[in-house]
Amino acid sequence: MKNYDLIIVGGCSAGIAAAINCKRLYPQNKIAVIEKLPRIGKKLLATGNGKCNITNLFALEHGYVNKGFTEYAQNRYTPDKVVEFFESLGLICYSDSCARVYPESNMAASVVDSLRFELERLGVEVICDTPVTDIKKNGDSFIVNNAYGCKKIILAAGGKSSPSQGSDGSGYPLAKKLGHSVTNLVPALVPLCGSPEITKPMKGMRVREVNLTLKGDKILAKTQGEILFTDYGLSGIAAMELAAPAQKYINNVKRNPFTIIDFMPRMTYNEIVEYLQNLCKIKGSCNVDNFLTGFLPKTVGIAICKATSLYKGERRIDELSVKEIKLIAEKVKNFPLEITGTKGFVNAQVTSGGIKTDEINPETMQSKKCRGLYFAGEIIDVDGGCGGFNLQWAWASGMLAGELKD
Ligand SMILES: Cc1cc2nc3c(=O)[nH]c(=O)nc-3n(C[C@H](O)[C@H](O)[C@H](O)COP(=O)(O)OP(=O)(O)OC[C@H]3O[C@@H](n4cnc5c(N)ncnc54)[C@H](O)[C@@H]3O)c2cc1C
Repeated sequence: MKNYDLIIVGGCSAGIAAAINCKRLYPQNKIAVIEKLPRIGKKLLATGNGKCNITNLFALEHGYVNKGFTEYAQNRYTPDKVVEFFESLGLICYSDSCARVYPESNMAASVVDSLRFELERLGVEVICDTPVTDIKKNGDSFIVNNAYGCKKIILAAGGKSSPSQGSDGSGYPLAKKLGHSVTNLVPALVPLCGSPEITKPMKGMRVREVNLTLKGDKILAKTQGEILFTDYGLSGIAAMELAAPAQKYINNVKRNPFTIIDFMPRMTYNEIVEYLQNLCKIKGSCNVDNFLTGFLPKTVGIAICKATSLYKGERRIDELSVKEIKLIAEKVKNFPLEITGTKGFVNAQVTSGGIKTDEINPETMQSKKCRGLYFAGEIIDVDGGCGGFNLQWAWASGMLAGELKD
């Protein structure tokens, strides 16, 4: 049996951050990161469309699920500290107009390489191609896969999202065996399915700045930003951020919610009516199909007009009645799509749900159920929106867990 002071299960964002912080704080500690895939950091390579959106400078203000639990770690390892951490690895970062932080190289591979080189420099042992299938408590220490012994262990095995990148949910049974409970899990930050008969003709069309409201028997969530129509439903950041509340509603209430799209949040309904009436004068002789092309892709404009039962196509714009114009304005502000589900864990960026936060000490990340066991990253019941918030949580919780505070 090989023995270590610390074993970290999972060699991606949270696990690597924990290993580096721990080894920097306690250079004498013998540390191993055990990763089931042939290489560490595979998921990181896919993040931020291959650019890796490392963190977000507004993360402290962000509405994470279980935000109260996250606060200690996030204040200790703020986004600025995370940027400093990466600078200490020689990685220069920049932030864009939305406070999203990226590596100057715009390549996620630079992030993974910097982390990998630091693990090597510090002498952290990385054991790849080794799925952890069993952790036993052995007095004050742990035995992993009947092959490795350790005094302390950090579970950083991620959630169930994007299993092709390693996180297949196999961390949960390990935690359960050590006395923990796992909340209901739903895919988050994933495209929405539903109303394909409406969305398919608009496939491939992006609309830049919409407001979305998810409605069940009450308002479930609101987002704003870009959407992308697909043949199965709706993608784009604003839509993906509604996935977890939509799926939770479907699971709990057994009914489908609706996403209401406001295509023109900058204008009121009355302003749109006025604008459309003016458009009738400018574009009067054109076919109605071109009515909304001044501010929306043509196929989206057609879908909006079609959604009013009065519009029958093949009409000149100046033939539209005031009633029809008002109905079209109403659909510009309130375009409903029924949501029947999501593209699932396979396509999800994040898992919503995880190890119950009240079973973990937020100031140490140590289990309240099993001394010497710590958690970090997505395996915990914490998730945030798109924009660097989930990686920020992975680094912050990982570095805090790596302190190995009692
Ligand atoms: C396509 C995509 C794009 C994303 N883009 C961004 C972004 O730009 N910004 C952002 O903030 N977030 C982004 N995310 C989310 C972010 O990547 C995750 O929230 C974050 O990586 C979670 O870190 P983690 O270390 O907790 O878990 P993971 O990154 O999932 O890592 C868990 C690791 O544990 C390993 N593992 C699992 N089970 C075992 C086991 N039994 N034994 C051994 N090893 C195991 C896995 O192979 C994996 O390497 C994205 C996610 C995806 C899928």
